[in-house]
Amino acid sequence: MVAESTLGEAAAAIVARPPLVALTGAGISAESGIPTFRSPGGLWEKFDPAVYASIEAFRRDPAKYWSIRGEFIRNLDAYRPNPGHLALAELEAAGLLRHLITQNIDGLHQKAGSRSVTELHGNLREIFCLACRRRYLAPRIPPGTPPRCDCGGVLKPNTVLFGEALPPAALERALREAAGCGCLLVVGTSALVQPAASLPSIAREHGAWVIEVNLERSAAAAELFLEGPAGVVLPQLAARVLAEREKAPR
Ligand SMILES: [Zn+2]
Repeated sequence: MVAESTLGEAAAAIVARPPLVALTGAGISAESGIPTFRSPGGLWEKFDPAVYASIEAFRRDPAKYWSIRGEFIRNLDAYRPNPGHLALAELEAAGLLRHLITQNIDGLHQKAGSRSVTELHGNLREIFCLACRRRYLAPRIPPGTPPRCDCGGVLKPNTVLFGEALPPAALERALREAAGCGCLLVVGTSALVQPAASLPSIAREHGAWVIEVNLERSAAAAELFLEGPAGVVLPQLAARVLAEREKAPR
């Protein structure tokens, strides 16, 4: 339960120190039932990512990767955004959130209505052919393990596998947004994996405040910490921010 005073302080900071940029991680998607990968009991505890989800392993044996990821990818439509996703979309629509950087690959921010989104680790919507680069959109993935393109080439999801470089344009955009924001709202990420780990310190070096919404404090070393699930805290915070802006002089 977040103290009213902390919520008020965070809302005031967001209005007083624009623009606001958000950084989200697995925590917000977990509240929508998306299976987590790194946490205890997560996918990577059962399946060694070096064997199943590294780019080297994929090149050697793509069927192995598809054997564990196929169901999840094909059922992506079954997952719905939660009130945390919706609150961020609402802030963007109200002109109070400039950009959203996410480590998530599930597309739930876009489903919630967010438009200005950088997906650091790619996404599960798009699948492309390693031979001819043709793109397929989930759930219209050809059958087979691994699924194959009409040309016979192997299909790979447009997600960043272990050992694979991040998409350069996404990384560049994330660094630029972090350096240019007045407040960075960090939600549901442990902020341990690069480059997300360095975004809070980059924001702070450029004079921004870091506001964190999480079940427990992460490595982000936030100026303001709002403890609790994103689906509970973000709607409260969004309502306070909208009310705060009404009070603020134009
Ligand atoms: Zn092809």
